[in-house]
Amino acid sequence: MTEPNFEGIGFTSRRTRDRLIGRLEAAGIGNPAVLEVMRQVPRHIFIDEALAHRAYEDSSLPIGHGQTISQPYIVARMTELLVAQGRLQRVLEVGSGCGYQTAVLSQLADRVWTVERIGPLLTKARRHWSQLKLRNITARLGDGFEGWADRGPFDGILLAAAPRQVPPALLEQLAPGGVLVAPVGDRDEQVLERHWREGSVLKSEVLEAVRFVPMLGGTA
Ligand code: SAH
Repeated sequence: MTEPNFEGIGFTSRRTRDRLIGRLEAAGIGNPAVLEVMRQVPRHIFIDEALAHRAYEDSSLPIGHGQTISQPYIVARMTELLVAQGRLQRVLEVGSGCGYQTAVLSQLADRVWTVERIGPLLTKARRHWSQLKLRNITARLGDGFEGWADRGPFDGILLAAAPRQVPPALLEQLAPGGVLVAPVGDRDEQVLERHWREGSVLKSEVLEAVRFVPMLGGTA
């Protein structure tokens, strides 16, 4: 793991963060590397000041443009599913939002590529990454339905917005042994799915019910 040095960046006490980690553990997150990264990455810098005092609650919060920063539990859960086989080399994220999930992934992967369709959110996300001196993230404004073919294949792909079904282009960009995790469904009913490639065969399973913003086509 790259040694994160997020000291001095926060007003939040160690105790407040530890309480969140305790909640995540109680909710079933067991991967020590994921828990440690969740403890280290300062979530409050990703959230507007007016809401920052709620940063270590286990809830999603608005980030503007009708979008939300994902709930810490679901960030941890999806990350844990991605890194189950160990440290990742190349990860693709669809839906950078304010950049929080990207920052978490950046500590558990050699390099992260992320695509966001709303320009002002991507600008914000970039500011957050540079504040934390995260240098292994490459982002672009675009439509995540297409993935990022010329940077693939990826050994991990994570969708932070829900398509009605997993876009075929993204499955094509999954490396052998790679894992894709995604919320799938319509606005009111979604499930978390894990897809993986065993040799040339694609396999999938349905996990728990989730609630994400919809994945939309084109750029805004
Ligand atoms: N992981 C983010 C959560 C972002 S919410 C965080 O930690 O803050 C989901 C994001 O997906 C939104 O910013 C939304 O604009 C984006 N999104 C939706 N459809 C998309 C698409 N087709 N391509 C890229 N981004 C998309």
